[in-house]
Amino acid sequence: MKIDNFPKEIQTFLIPQPQGDLFYQCLGCSATYPIKELLYVCPKCGQVLLIHNRNFDELKKIPGKTWQQIFDYRRMLNIPALKGIYRYHEFIGPNIPLNSIVYLGEGHTPIVEANRQLQAKAGAKFYYKNDGQNPSASFKDRGMASALSYIKYLIDTRLASNIIAICASTGDTSASAALYASYLTPDIKSAVLLPYKKVTPQQLSQPLGSGAKVFEIPGVFDDCMKIVEKLSEEYPVALLNSKNAWRILGQESYSYEVAQDFEYEMHDKVIIVPIGNAGNISAVMSGFLKFYEAGIIDTLPKIIGVQSEHADPVFRYYLEPDVDKRVFKPVTVKPSVAQAAMIGNPVSMPRVIAIANRYNEMSGRKNVFFIQVTEQSIMDWSLDANRNGHIACTQGGESLAGLVQAVEQGIITDQDIAIVDATAHAIKFSGFQDQYFQKTIDKDYEIKPNQSLINMPSLVMPENREKIPAQGKPLSDDDFKIFADDISRKIATELNLVKNS
Ligand SMILES: *Cc1c(COP(=O)(O)O)cnc(C)c1O
Ligand SMILES: [Zn+2]
Repeated sequence: MKIDNFPKEIQTFLIPQPQGDLFYQCLGCSATYPIKELLYVCPKCGQVLLIHNRNFDELKKIPGKTWQQIFDYRRMLNIPALKGIYRYHEFIGPNIPLNSIVYLGEGHTPIVEANRQLQAKAGAKFYYKNDGQNPSASFKDRGMASALSYIKYLIDTRLASNIIAICASTGDTSASAALYASYLTPDIKSAVLLPYKKVTPQQLSQPLGSGAKVFEIPGVFDDCMKIVEKLSEEYPVALLNSKNAWRILGQESYSYEVAQDFEYEMHDKVIIVPIGNAGNISAVMSGFLKFYEAGIIDTLPKIIGVQSEHADPVFRYYLEPDVDKRVFKPVTVKPSVAQAAMIGNPVSMPRVIAIANRYNEMSGRKNVFFIQVTEQSIMDWSLDANRNGHIACTQGGESLAGLVQAVEQGIITDQDIAIVDATAHAIKFSGFQDQYFQKTIDKDYEIKPNQSLINMPSLVMPENREKIPAQGKPLSDDDFKIFADDISRKIATELNLVKNS
């Protein structure tokens, strides 16, 4: 819709002007730094940073109801810069002018009500939010759109040039980074570091296809991360891991969308996300907090973070009920089908601790929960979800397995409505499905294929093996008729079909 056709009182708000006064703040020593340069850790103490807005209180002057209208009306605009995560411009990157925003179709992913049979089996009312329907098929595009829009802004204002962007990845960060960086060629080139044989073939093909320089490194993600950290300390590169606080800002859009999708009614909602490097759960909590503080939502939804028992450092940290006794210990990961979350030393752990603390405080009760699930349940629930019309990756299965656990533990009741994060598209992880179906899954995963979930193709061959159509060698009409009769009879028998009389 054209701007003139919107209600007068909303028109002035619809197209945001650059505003805000953003700065980095260290989670270790609280030092603040201007955002004119790319910083990833505190130059003083080495801790991770978050980005805040000194003028956030200005946003509170606009009533929550008006904000709701602004976002709802913005849905109808046809301005590319405002079609993705920057629909929430004032909350994501208020300093970034619209002409620097990179939009590749990210965000506003479908919220799909789980099919009835699956809800009954899981024991709760829930929706999947399909973040696999982002451009590179994972939620990472939210943070990448933010980080790359900021870098483009630096380039546009000549504060930076000839950027080499790098990241370490369990597969999806590199796919996303390479996609967004390739859109900005020739100003940005990208290089990605992957743990050798620890990403799926689909995930490996993505940065290759985008033209990134791809380095495979022996070890697991945590090893790659250390190398990327060393590179970013010693060389002039732009780090695109979620250590980069701009990524967190962009990923907050997930929460803004959930709020908007449910008419900003959050009192009965539970948000379930898998945890790997813990950037996403940090962003999800932070996003709801911002909307809450601005009066856009009036309750903070329950948050549940899920980890596999093969990679569960965050869960273990919170096992200790006494806050003062909690100590973070990295874990050595074991193979996990939730491979994108297979991280033993999450970079965003300090963010989780700080933000979850504040989240509980602002909620006036414990409102953030951490749950551990088995590899078996991750795999079985992801297959089951997909058998019921969903497109959940293994991490989406992990979220659902977490929901089931939360119901068993009484954290989710029949009054609650859960929003379960399917963080990537199922096809990225179909190799695990293949191994499960073919019963070749390595014993280290500790998964036993459940026969009722296995599905294999059946090759249908005619009685007469001499008369088979082949590429460039069609059968004669008569032979094909015999072939078609034979094959269709065999399929009908398999399907227990009775011929029309
Ligand atoms: C990155 C990723 C995760 C983990 O998110 P973090 O922000 O690292 O905690 C989960 N699922 C998928 C599909 C991912 O790509
Ligand atoms: Zn510091």
